[in-house]
Amino acid sequence: MTIAILPARLANQIAAGEVVERPASVIKELIENSLDAGATNVHIEVEKGGIKKIRISDNGCGIAKEELTLALSRHATSKIKDLSDLEAINSLGFRGEALASISSVARLTLTSKPKEQATAWQATAEGRDMEVSVKPAAHPDGTSIEVLDLFFNTPARRKFLRTEKTEFHHIDEVIRRIALARFDVSFTLTHNGKLIRQYRLATNQAQYAKRVAMVCGQKFIDNAIEVECQHDNMTLTGWLAKPSFARSQNDLCYSYVNSRMMRDKLINHAIRQAYADLLPHDAYPAFVLFLTLDHADVDVNVHPAKHEVRFHQSRYVHDFIFSVCQQALQSELTPSLVAQSS
Ligand code: ADP
Ligand code: MG
Repeated sequence: MTIAILPARLANQIAAGEVVERPASVIKELIENSLDAGATNVHIEVEKGGIKKIRISDNGCGIAKEELTLALSRHATSKIKDLSDLEAINSLGFRGEALASISSVARLTLTSKPKEQATAWQATAEGRDMEVSVKPAAHPDGTSIEVLDLFFNTPARRKFLRTEKTEFHHIDEVIRRIALARFDVSFTLTHNGKLIRQYRLATNQAQYAKRVAMVCGQKFIDNAIEVECQHDNMTLTGWLAKPSFARSQNDLCYSYVNSRMMRDKLINHAIRQAYADLLPHDAYPAFVLFLTLDHADVDVNVHPAKHEVRFHQSRYVHDFIFSVCQQALQSELTPSLVAQSS
């Protein structure tokens, strides 16, 4: 056996296995890039469940012409520079892998115009060995990324894609999750030319509730307790459904850490524990909760897709979430007691 360094394309395709599972994961990575670029409007266009075409356009800071090729290279990022940055990450991305990975398994076109640049430029990479061609283009301030024919050159991956309908369902869900994380950004989603979702900019509590109702249903909001609690440098805000709104599946469980969507065991455990005696055994709680804490108190570099985090003081975070949720639920159940004690 001989040892050899993998060609760049193959290395990127292997890395793509970690973050690019299906159209929805491409969309998650691209929207996160738009948010990191400071965008306030994000348009998502999808054709055939995202398998044929995904196009994300934003009004963010853009990418300078000289950096277009670099943006598509592996381990190229503008978000961290050294270890101290890695230890207190305040952006959604930092691995510098998404664009390289996606462009290794699809035909990718990146068009961008920073506002200080007179014209837009476009870079194209077609799943080849990262040879990128750059040419002038027409585009307003911001960035558009088009991804065509996902997995066209990796048939084994393509085989795992489901029907157009199922893939679109995953996309819709990813966008719902992100829409809940960022009330200050508007999102539109079109599928095969038809407008499917429009999340308008929300700037006050009533508009936040409206967006939550769009995602979780009006019934959820009508049956939700608003939560807002701060302790030391931690804040927990959001909505907890009353126990009477119990669900038969865990389809309305939305938790966020510093605006990053999570599927974190510790957070879910703390919340479930708060509901423990209030829900039947086979029922799930419904919630939309946002935890904010210092970036240095949480490690997001645990999982390539960043669904999980590691808290430096995990017991403390767990107990904080548990006690805030428990108190909110208790005060709902026994309003007279709360009235007496206050
Ligand atoms: P990461 O997000 O981890 O830095 P990516 O491969 O997703 O890695 O993106 C590489 C770089 O390309 C980013 O660091 C950023 O500088 C730039 N970039 C990507 N998408 C956008 C966008 N929509 N607007 C502005 N810059 C972008
Ligand atoms: Mg990224």
